[in-house]
Formats: sequence, structure tokens, C-alpha cells
Amino acid sequence: MTSPPTQDVEMQRLLEGYRQFRETYFEGNKPHALYQKLVEEGQNPKTMVIACSDSRVDPSIILGSLPGELFVVRNVANLVPPYDNDPKHHGTSAALEFAVQTLGVRHIILLGHSHCGGIRALLTKSDTEMTPKNPSFISSWMNIANAAKTKTLTHFEQAPLELQEKMCEEYSLKISLNNLLTFPWIHEKVTDATLALHAWRFDLGTGMIQGFHTERQTFEDLIV
Ligand SMILES: [Zn+2]
Repeated sequence: MTSPPTQDVEMQRLLEGYRQFRETYFEGNKPHALYQKLVEEGQNPKTMVIACSDSRVDPSIILGSLPGELFVVRNVANLVPPYDNDPKHHGTSAALEFAVQTLGVRHIILLGHSHCGGIRALLTKSDTEMTPKNPSFISSWMNIANAAKTKTLTHFEQAPLELQEKMCEEYSLKISLNNLLTFPWIHEKVTDATLALHAWRFDLGTGMIQGFHTERQTFEDLIV
């Protein structure tokens, strides 16, 4: 099936959204000024966001951005793998390379969130390696944050699952932050102060974002 099932309620809702998008940014088939500029001059985003695929955590909605403002990668649990130049398929690393080396973004935001299913799976499941008997892409991918699980269970073994998840989400963000610095061209630009890294955690229950303060080593409200 390649054409949209237009009787489908969910699809109708999306098509209505598409209609509204076209009314906002296009006149018939002609772009308004914003898309005209983006077509003629190309994209020039200053910020890359690495967010979770979770449907509740859309960076463009949370940050109120316009088309062309954010270069976005979304993956399970907003993880960044360490730099690795093996010939495997590195989607997130490829996007990082394009954003940093070609687009020259000035900021990379890791946008984590509360109630993250990937983090919950990491905390509650025993297998973290993909094996022929356990062919799970999620388990293998979440292995990037395995040290966050170990740290959480070491320091918060008796804590309620909700607190464990929060801590694991924060530890995981710090792992990805460190992994970003294993990419030589990211490390170089951060050292030159031409690129800034940010680790944020969005709380679904309060709508608040807390950002990691590298000097104080704490997550603090972005706006008060
Ligand atoms: Zn998530």
C-alpha cells in the first residue's frame, strides 16, 4: 500500500495537519518567504538536536522552532555512540559528521526526557547484547548506556523505579556528552569554543527542562 488510506482516522488527522502546514508556508505550489529562502540559500541551522524517538518529545514543538532552525536526529533514548571508524552503519555518527563538518552548527543539544522507554528497558532487562538467541536491536543499542545502569543500581539500588529511571536518564546523558567528545572534530571545535555541547532532560510531567551544568555537575532548570 503506497497511497494513504484516507478513511483512516489517524491518517485524516495527519492530512489535516499537512493541509495547515501548506497554508502556513505555501501559496498554492509557491513557497512563502521562509521556504523560498530555504530553497534558494539552502539550510543553515546553527543547532543540532539529538532527541529520543518518543512521540511525546518532539524538539521542534518543545523549542518552538521554525523550519530550517534545527538539524535533528532522533533515535531510541537519544544516545550518542562513541567514535568508532569501523565499517558498520552509524546513522547518528553520520548525522553528527554532516552537522559539524558540513553545516558547521554552533550547538549540539542532547535532549533526554522522563519516562523514557529505552532507559526503562535498559534498567529492567538483563540482556544488553545482541546475540543469535536475543536478536534485539534495542538491547544492543542501549548497551551504549550500560554504565548508566550500573551506576544507578550501585547508588540507588533501593530507590523506587521512578527515581532510578530519572538518575539513569541523567547518567545516560552524561555518557552521550562524553561520547560526543570522542569524535576528534567535535573535540577540536569544543576546545576552540566554536561548538558548545548541552545535555538537557525534559520532564513530561512538568514541562520543565533541566540542563546539565558542567562545573556544578548538576541538572538545573533552564529557565526559572
Ligand atoms: Zn525516550
